[in-house]
Amino acid sequence: MMNKKNLEIYVHVPFCVRKCAYCDFLSFPGNRQMQREYTEKLIEEIQCQSAKVREYQVISVFIGGGTPSILNIEDMSAVFHALTNGFEILPDAEITMEVNPGTVTAESLSCYREAGVNRISMGLQSADDKELGYLGRIHTYDEFLKSYQRVRMAGFDNVNVDLISAIPGQTVESWKNTLKKVTMLKPEHISAYSLIVEEGTPYYDRYGEPVEVENHTVTQEKVHGLKSLPDLPDLPDEDAERDMYYLTRDFLKEQGYERYEISNYSKKGYECRHNIGYWTGTEYLGLGLGASSYLSGCRFHNTSVYKEYCSARLDREEVFQEVLRQEFERLTLEEKMEEYMFLGLRLTQGVSAQGFVSSFGHNIRSIYGPVLDAMEKDGLMEQNDGYYRLTSRGTDISNYVMSQFFV
Ligand code: SF4
Repeated sequence: MMNKKNLEIYVHVPFCVRKCAYCDFLSFPGNRQMQREYTEKLIEEIQCQSAKVREYQVISVFIGGGTPSILNIEDMSAVFHALTNGFEILPDAEITMEVNPGTVTAESLSCYREAGVNRISMGLQSADDKELGYLGRIHTYDEFLKSYQRVRMAGFDNVNVDLISAIPGQTVESWKNTLKKVTMLKPEHISAYSLIVEEGTPYYDRYGEPVEVENHTVTQEKVHGLKSLPDLPDLPDEDAERDMYYLTRDFLKEQGYERYEISNYSKKGYECRHNIGYWTGTEYLGLGLGASSYLSGCRFHNTSVYKEYCSARLDREEVFQEVLRQEFERLTLEEKMEEYMFLGLRLTQGVSAQGFVSSFGHNIRSIYGPVLDAMEKDGLMEQNDGYYRLTSRGTDISNYVMSQFFV
């Protein structure tokens, strides 16, 4: 029998209670009727897409968003059911569900567990209520704590907490306080990203380059549900941001968390397998509005237009191709090698020289020898045990180092 290829699945649920002020993800508030309509289309998509990947076995599923936990139990169960029926999900697959504080109940958590979810990812961002207010989050730290306890009570023993540093008004001290409070809870995994001010968000109006946008105020109110932002203090300066990064790395290490990727930390054995797969070139299929895929050396994504997605007749092949195969692109060998390098370099372990040969049939040095030498000479990269990785200095300017690997 032919060996099946590994596949990761991402399922996008775009609904949120309210839009956070810094968020540029594909997410928006949606009423019950929209949620029902979306769930039905998602199930239809799962049925159509799964028929096309029979030669794959699924090693991880990530239900993200948005706020997937906003869907009611009936809808979420129907999605799980469709996934299990449609795909060959391995018994030891990592199955992650993103939840936001205030949107989980004992009943919904028990439904996730019964459906096979074995990892919960919780969006906290900060343990400081004032900072949560600046972010436009819907919850306080106490509300997060209640949800966290519920997650533990439901029996989940693999929990991630998402944090953001360099929030308006944040100091190195208040960030340390967040890290202290969170590590006291002993989650198995912590993601700690620095805030990025994205275009098209209320944060961009306050901190980004001024832009002229027609009816901007109306759009902001509608999309973000914020009549006006609270008086936002300045962002921490670059030095403070760097200090927060070093503090994160050192403090989390003291607390028993290893940094295995630029912004991801875990207890031993609890690295996120889904994300590692993504950084090491495993194929993935994205389901739901705007979800991206990488299959058989091709990239494409689903439409991001809600109405187009929900009204599409996916059983018609031409509609399927048009709506779910947008910007279809076959990567060249050079592009695949570039991706292998700049995604792999995000990992603390680095890029495997042997893996490079197995993937591309070329020795890594025959393609990147001069760049690797230059990076090593500048102290930005190092090599041992057959892996090329960023040094601490290289991690500080990782974007620059990664950009050197365009062929
Ligand atoms: S919870 Fe906030 S940050 Fe997360 S997707 Fe929704 S709006 Fe964006």
